[in-house]
Formats: sequence, C-alpha cells, structure tokens
Amino acid sequence: MLDLHVHPLGHNDREANRETIRAFLDEASRRGLKEIGFADHDYYWDQMNFPLIREVAKDYPHLEVRVGLEAEYRPYEEGRIKNLLDQFSFDFVIGSVHEFDGWVFDIPEEEHMHRKKDADEFYRRYFEVVTLAAKSGLFTTIGHFDLIKVFGVRPGKDILTLADEALTTVAERGLVLEVNTNGRYKPVQEFYPERRLMEEIHRRGIEFTLGSDAHCAENVGRDLDEASQLLRQIGVQSLVGFSRFDKVSYSLD
Ligand SMILES: [Zn+2]
Ligand SMILES: [Zn+2]
Repeated sequence: MLDLHVHPLGHNDREANRETIRAFLDEASRRGLKEIGFADHDYYWDQMNFPLIREVAKDYPHLEVRVGLEAEYRPYEEGRIKNLLDQFSFDFVIGSVHEFDGWVFDIPEEEHMHRKKDADEFYRRYFEVVTLAAKSGLFTTIGHFDLIKVFGVRPGKDILTLADEALTTVAERGLVLEVNTNGRYKPVQEFYPERRLMEEIHRRGIEFTLGSDAHCAENVGRDLDEASQLLRQIGVQSLVGFSRFDKVSYSLD
C-alpha cells in the first residue's frame, strides 16, 4: 500500500525527467499504492529536480507522492547532510549506511572481504555507525537496517545483541524502520531486516514503513504485499508514511 523508497535516477542510469517520474507513478497506480516516496541517493544531488516531482504529482490525485532523499551516513559528514536537507522541504529522509571506515561493503567486488574479515567485528562496527545515524537527528527513517548481511555472511554472536544499541536509539528517537524487499534479490535472498529483528522491532514499539528500493519503474511496489502479510503475522497493525517530516499512519487491516 505504500512504497517509501524508490530511485527514479537509479544509479544515475537515466534522467529524472517528467517521463521517468510518470513511469514510477504509473506503476505505483497500477499496483494500487496509496503513497509513494522518491528517495534518490544523495550522491546524485545535482541531477535531482524536486519541484518537478511535486508538479507531476498533481496529475495523480489518487496517490500521495512524497519527496525524500536517501542520504549516505558517515559520522564525519553530518554537516554536509544537514546542508542538503536545508535546501528543500522534504517529506522524509532515509539515513543509510553502505560504507564505514572507508569500506563500501555492499558492492559485489567486496563479497570476498565479507568471507575474509571477522563477521562479529564488522557487524559490531556496522551497527555502531547505524546507531550514530539514528542519534544524528537528521533522519525520519533508517534504511535497510541489517544491510550488512547482504552477502549472506552471518555473525557468530546473536544479531539481537549486535543490534541492541541501534534499536534502543531508534526507539528513543522515534525513528521508523523499513521492511526493504530488495534484499531478496541480493545474495542473502531475504528482506531487510530478517524476521527475528522484525519481531524485536515490533516488541520495542518501533514503527515500520515499506520500501521496494526500486531502481527502475518496473520494480515499484515489488513484494510489498508479502512484506505487509509478514508484518501482520507478527502483530503489526499499522504502517507509517510521511508528510513534511510528520508521520502519517495507515492501517494494515
Ligand atoms: Zn540503500
Ligand atoms: Zn535505496
């Protein structure tokens, strides 16, 4: 019903012009979504056209079209992110960690390093940086909460212990976590976060949103019915969208 994580620019594969925006909104309409949120990677800032999204959205009155950003969180760059967020009135901002200590860990070229390094140590460090992202006060949402599992390398320690402080911070700050279905199409072949984490997130009273992380229009809304079903099974009754940083609640019934 809502997809708050799509990338009209992909990995800078195309222009986010009127046709591209329409293609994403057409697919969202076709799938019967109520809300869609654009969140391109901040590295392509200069290619983004936020007012155009708001303008094209007027042709889709049945859809809540939200304008957001997926910001790369690095602890020493909070000022840079803040500067970007000051330049437009966003509906939501996803803080994501795809890199820490100079290691861009989620690209295929780095898979062998996941097998070589100490998994307990890189999971610990990953969640430490996610905790800082949650503490930064910059974001509404933390993206793909357990992305570090992307190649299917698991820690020896319990994931609930490793993620404990990050979850505590997310709960304290009232941040939202997404079920991001894109993980199914990565080597790990499962949604982010894994089910045990989803249950723990719900137990702690943290709210969920949904995201396909679509980098092309065809993937908008992909597997979100299944993700909603899974959330219902663990007892989640509502999902969260955003309008100018305010939460908007959707019943899951
Ligand atoms: Zn991401
Ligand atoms: Zn993304």
